[in-house]
Amino acid sequence: MSIDSEHFRTQLLAERDRVRSAIAHLRDDHPGSLDDEVEEVAPTSDDNLGETATATLNREIDYTLGEHSGQVLAEIDAALKRIDDGTYGTCEVCGKEIPQARLEAYPWASLCIDDARKAERA
Ligand SMILES: [Zn+2]
Repeated sequence: MSIDSEHFRTQLLAERDRVRSAIAHLRDDHPGSLDDEVEEVAPTSDDNLGETATATLNREIDYTLGEHSGQVLAEIDAALKRIDDGTYGTCEVCGKEIPQARLEAYPWASLCIDDARKAERA
């Protein structure tokens, strides 16, 4: 494999720390209100993505660290496991290598760009 997985392991561990502390910070700022927030931004129209993004922006919460933080954490953990398994950097759908530039931007990416776009449309 041509991918330097240890480089990405370091990035993933740093990112996991960042997300975890951001989650802790969010909870400090809004004690006990996380459940309420999730309900408030529940999709109310067909334009789900737009609704959610707008609601999150209005709250001035980093989009990636708001309601998706738990999902990001899970993806980071899954990526760390793939490094241990030796499958890191290959697309889970088509098995092709994920371009290094994409991994630099999204170290937890488990799909190549083509399959990620298909998954987003699904
Ligand atoms: Zn693919």
